[in-house]
Amino acid sequence: MSNDERQSGGRGRECEACPRSCRADRAAGADGYCRSGAGLEIASICLHGGEESAISGKRGICNIFFSHCNLQCVYCQNFQISRNDSSAKSMRLEEVVRAAARLLDEGVASVGFVSPSHMIPQMRSIVEALSASGLRPIVVMNTNAYDRADTIASLEDIVDVYLPDLKYMDHSLALELSGAWNYPEVALAALREMHRQKGSELALGDDGVASSGLIVRHLILPGHAENSKAVLRAIAEELSSSVHVSLMSQYYPPPGIAGHPWLGRTITRGEYDEVLDELERLGFHRGWVQELESQETYRPDFTKPNPFE
Ligand code: SF4
Repeated sequence: MSNDERQSGGRGRECEACPRSCRADRAAGADGYCRSGAGLEIASICLHGGEESAISGKRGICNIFFSHCNLQCVYCQNFQISRNDSSAKSMRLEEVVRAAARLLDEGVASVGFVSPSHMIPQMRSIVEALSASGLRPIVVMNTNAYDRADTIASLEDIVDVYLPDLKYMDHSLALELSGAWNYPEVALAALREMHRQKGSELALGDDGVASSGLIVRHLILPGHAENSKAVLRAIAEELSSSVHVSLMSQYYPPPGIAGHPWLGRTITRGEYDEVLDELERLGFHRGWVQELESQETYRPDFTKPNPFE
């Protein structure tokens, strides 16, 4: 089976676009795990100035947030749009291009696709439509990394910067929080393919914005510094300690789990320092570390026209 056939989230055949491999005929209205259709189901297209400096630059990035998600983490920080029971509105391709073009015309250099794992054909169609309109932004794939490695290989011609998470190396935790026991192996295989394509170097323009490369993100979860340390060791061992790592401390409990025994709080200074010590011990020397205080400020609200204002 060709990769095009597998990535049938937009083509009306059985969908195997992501590792869930539901084989749902999305165009015919069948529900897969992500409960997405075959259209351009997009929750927000907006300017975001709060990503890493090499991603947002001074002008911000035009982020295209897809609705729904193939992972469903119980603590999702974008829960308003990621739940597979939320209503998803479909946009026409011309509308998407118009919205992105408005920001690109103002000097924004990059378009970021956020949570595209279940929308790979849609992401490609947007990039191709932008190109047909004479727009060739830097394309950033901001993914949870629960992606097929062969899908990542198929994107070599359109993705400039990979911005994947590496969430877990603990299988039980991956199952409990994201319903994905095999997340560690799947995500590592996807990251190895990203690293094969981009290596450890980040190409930066004069404006400091990354034009090609790989940045691996990790969100520290409360009570699970050991998982975070294992994630860092996996990056160092499987990729390189020269990879750019973005360590995130912004976790806050979304309303649905405010009373959870250990997810119901932010991370402590002790947990933060423990993970930072491991980052240093492993020799990582490129990337970003969020201040612990960022847990007070990162609160997107997708009911607003710009969720980050
Ligand atoms: S993209 Fe959605 S329908 Fe397709 S395999 Fe993944 S979860 Fe299932």
